[in-house]
Amino acid sequence: MKLIIKVKEKIEKSKNIIIAGHINPDGDTVGAGLALLLGLEKKYPEKKIEFVLQDSIPKNISFLKGSEKIKKIEEVINPNYDLAILVDSATIDRVGTVFNLVEDVFKINIDHHISNSKYGDINIVKEISSTSEMMYTILKELDVEMTLEMCEAIYLGLVNDTGNFAHSNVTDKTFLVASELMALGVNNNKIVNEFFKTKSFEKMKVLGTALSEMVFVENKKLMYFNLSAKKLKSLNAVKDDTEGVVEELINYSGSEVSLFLREDENGKIKGSLRSKYNADVNKIAALFGGGGHIKAAGFTSELSVDEIIKKVVENL
Ligand code: 5GP
Ligand code: MN
Repeated sequence: MKLIIKVKEKIEKSKNIIIAGHINPDGDTVGAGLALLLGLEKKYPEKKIEFVLQDSIPKNISFLKGSEKIKKIEEVINPNYDLAILVDSATIDRVGTVFNLVEDVFKINIDHHISNSKYGDINIVKEISSTSEMMYTILKELDVEMTLEMCEAIYLGLVNDTGNFAHSNVTDKTFLVASELMALGVNNNKIVNEFFKTKSFEKMKVLGTALSEMVFVENKKLMYFNLSAKKLKSLNAVKDDTEGVVEELINYSGSEVSLFLREDENGKIKGSLRSKYNADVNKIAALFGGGGHIKAAGFTSELSVDEIIKKVVENL
């Protein structure tokens, strides 16, 4: 039986559905999950459907209509779910504490990461630009009517994961989806302005600090920047304000790989990696228990900053 038919059957049999995405949610997780939430709510008004995340969504995504419906885990009152749909999450632990709500529930895993561990009872895992691009096709196959709110959410997911249609994960199909979304009413300039051109003063300062304090490891063509918790605080910035730094570091003509390290409140180090040409940063992230894609990956580690940098340099 075609996977999508199984998915449809499972949705139709379920009464209480949870949609979940990864910690530190980005535009793709939110876009794909929100489009699914709004679509299922419209098609199946009798069902209870919740989109639950461990963390708040970034400020520059909260303009999406319907995003106010996304619940943080502490707002969940009566779980009792009979179906969990996980989006943009390569492994089950990527959902963070939401794991406790989905552990014993039938799982549909919808994702586009090369490192996906196929943890679902049904796995729809494809190498494609974004989970949002996949979601567009899935929603059409589920005969869900696309509203403008859903189209905007998906468009934002595409913009997020393709770097506004610039990365190597863009295909002719990606543009076709974008074109269909625009035909359905999406204003691309509005989405891009809201998403990229609404940086806080603190975010600009973080970027400036990164660009003036970055370090280049010549023999590995690696550009890196480490942001301590103390420095983040002194800039009056929050985690959200560090989004996009790793993409700037790879813009240097000499860089082939960029690494951004951020110390979180719990002392752990969050790492983000990008690759311009052939270096496989998914493999590097995996050395620290993380993953992602060949050209964009991440991890969280308990090692020290020096140990992390040493290990990355040794393995490039
Ligand atoms: P970012 O560097 O923007 O956080 O993430 C880049 C890519 O790697 C995204 O596709 C993201 O989902 C994935 N990623 C980031 N952090 C982790 C992690 O800790 N574990 C895994 N498996 N993937 C990650
Ligand atoms: Mn994604």
